[in-house]
Amino acid sequence: MSLRVSQHSLKEAKNYSAQAIELLLGHGIAPSPLNYMVAYEYCGGGNPGLKAGLDKLLGEAKALDGFMLRDLYEQHIASDQYKNLHGMGDDLQHLLTSLMENISEAGAGVAVFGATLTKHIGSLDSQKGPESLKAIAADLLSATVSIQSRNQGLQQRLEETRQETDHLRKELEQHRREALVDPLTGLFNRRAMESQLNQWTAKPLAMVMLDIDHFKRINDTYGHAIGDIVIRNVADTLRKCIRGDDFAVRYGGEEFVVLLPDTGLDGAVTVAETIRQRIAALRLVRKQDNFTLAPFTISAGVATRRPDDTLESLFQRADSALYESKSRGRNCVTHEDLLH
Ligand code: GH3
Ligand code: MG
Ligand code: MG
Repeated sequence: MSLRVSQHSLKEAKNYSAQAIELLLGHGIAPSPLNYMVAYEYCGGGNPGLKAGLDKLLGEAKALDGFMLRDLYEQHIASDQYKNLHGMGDDLQHLLTSLMENISEAGAGVAVFGATLTKHIGSLDSQKGPESLKAIAADLLSATVSIQSRNQGLQQRLEETRQETDHLRKELEQHRREALVDPLTGLFNRRAMESQLNQWTAKPLAMVMLDIDHFKRINDTYGHAIGDIVIRNVADTLRKCIRGDDFAVRYGGEEFVVLLPDTGLDGAVTVAETIRQRIAALRLVRKQDNFTLAPFTISAGVATRRPDDTLESLFQRADSALYESKSRGRNCVTHEDLLH
């Protein structure tokens, strides 16, 4: 499987490499392999989606950090890997299925050949024809039998190969599943959400978008490791507040989306409100010294899907509602009908 990384001449590559390192160091970001790969792709310009994404972040004049680069990697580099992975199992399966069909047809052909010969030998017997002719026919029959048994051996080997492929396919399935789950929280990732929404095109649906309030402050006060624990606790709370077909996603660093199928605006607001209250009530205690973290909160925006919605337009309304919650002072839920 190849990574989607652009090919350049040595001279160009050297240039882009220098620019990439400069970009990273200029933002105080360590040139780790992942960060470097994203920066190099950006400077080389071979990945338009990634370039647009990073240009947007740079345009927002926010301090660029490794988390943002990881998001870009996930969206614009790893998702190609995922697509490759997706096709691979199916190709393998098709190949083997058609091979097996051909071979069993060949096997059936030989069996028919054998049966015909047996019949002819029988008729030779009844006509009491020359012994030599009979002997030739018997020879032919034994040749056929041996072809048949060789063919059976081949079929058995193919069957074994098919079993191995099945095993391989299951492993691929496992990798695919992993490619859809966020490793920090175990929630679905953005890729999984897009694929789920494609399956739910006809379903009434509400979208709740949530974002941890002043998360940067949490990181700055307690460090990234505690920041990650906070993210995990938010994810656990989401899981506890949803049911059945509801779909909880870690959308980005400290942003989450919950998809609620067959749910109207009021129902979705209730779910979002429950999540908000439970998170505000969390008290995280560090075991080794019983230190209690200051309480933290989330803001949320809720929208329901309209018939003419695209993923982007639905998303846009949920995001605007979330933004409204932030400007109303955070730690609250806004639904799209309150937007002007
Ligand atoms: P607001 O209330 O407006 O949402 O403010 P905020 O500080 O939460 O928002 P901002 O977008 O400024 O900061 C989000 C920070 O989240 C920036 C980034 O360093 C951090 N972050 C993103 N992903 C992760 C992660 O996986 N782990 C940790 N610890 N921090 C992350
Ligand atoms: Mg955010
Ligand atoms: Mg935030």
